[in-house]
Amino acid sequence: MSEELRVPMSRPDIGSAEQQAVAEVLATPVLSMGEQTSAFEEAVRQFCGAQHAVAVNSGTAGLHLCVRAAGIGPGDLVLTTPFSFVSSSNVLLFEQAVPVFVDVDARTGNLDPAALAQAAADLAAGGAAAERWLPRRGAQATPAKAILAVDVFGQPADYAVIREVAEQHGLALIEDSCEALGAEYRGQPAGRLGDMGVFAFYPNKQITTGEGGIVVTDDAEAADFMRALRNQGRAPGDTWLQHTHLGYNYRITELSAALGRVQMGRLEDLLARREQVAAWYQQRLEGQAGLEVQYVGPDTTRMSWFVYVVRVAAGVNREEFARRLLAAGVPSRPYFAPIHLQPFMVERFGYQPGDFPVTEDLGARGLALPFSGVMTEAEVDLVCEEVRKALA
Ligand SMILES: *Cc1c(COP(=O)(O)O)cnc(C)c1O
Repeated sequence: MSEELRVPMSRPDIGSAEQQAVAEVLATPVLSMGEQTSAFEEAVRQFCGAQHAVAVNSGTAGLHLCVRAAGIGPGDLVLTTPFSFVSSSNVLLFEQAVPVFVDVDARTGNLDPAALAQAAADLAAGGAAAERWLPRRGAQATPAKAILAVDVFGQPADYAVIREVAEQHGLALIEDSCEALGAEYRGQPAGRLGDMGVFAFYPNKQITTGEGGIVVTDDAEAADFMRALRNQGRAPGDTWLQHTHLGYNYRITELSAALGRVQMGRLEDLLARREQVAAWYQQRLEGQAGLEVQYVGPDTTRMSWFVYVVRVAAGVNREEFARRLLAAGVPSRPYFAPIHLQPFMVERFGYQPGDFPVTEDLGARGLALPFSGVMTEAEVDLVCEEVRKALA
């Protein structure tokens, strides 16, 4: 039924060291909550220079724990972006909080800092100024409680401004760095640019644990709370079957943690390979009529390539373009679908097309091409050749 693919959409980079590490765990009786988890946390903690790291079983779980640790609850307004993977907003809905969307910068796809500053000021002022930022239904005007920023496609958002807004209004700042392990903003590591940062390890991310995530923070109290919540709410000192808090099973397995520990040991190599593949793409597609390539801003002192997304020019039919690529054996994916237009968001908050025009434009024109650190130059050549033919 489907065409034979000549190159996969993405592939993890797993070697014999990873296979051996996982096999070694299987030969022990400890498959959860053991030394692999501690070692993996320590590797990530040291890499990004955080005081604490808490490993969990998905990036979404990590974001949810940050939302809980920030004390975000029913009716709280959280300034965030509609141009993201859906889970960055879902974790707010898990707590009956309300994502207040702010549109993005057209070049980076990250939160527009000026608009964010305006939104925070208007919500603090209240009245009609505040109302214009709220969805048509499902929210009541109050000052914002927090900011949840996302480092889109491996490029950090503009934290110089975002932090200033957070400080000025006393807002918690959560950094969704699930696509940006290894990236740097003005020389500072992604994940460390807010109060708490989260990385994710699904197989298409910079490193993988199969499924997994990790929270990094300097806040000892928040870290303890999150460690308790990931383990059914069992706080330090609680006995077996004693649960101080309402918690979850967000524990990562030792198999995943062992995989992550070995991948962390190879991180520089994994990032460099992805950089090389992205460079091959940029060289071949820059200046190609009908396409725009990824923009990397001057504050991004290191881009951590997560996906390779191009934007079709206005007037190019993206779906037809993608169909032609697929017919030639090259898969691709629209990237991202705006969160505010997901059916459940429309139903709950009454969003309409046109509410966030930059996000919608990027959502309509963005297409991720096959990408991974194990892609060869010949594969990049093949994809670029088919891209040129499909656009002709
Ligand atoms: C991958 C990702 C997540 C977390 O995804 P999980 O599948 O839960 O690990 C969160 N936010 C963004 C922006 C992501 O890309």
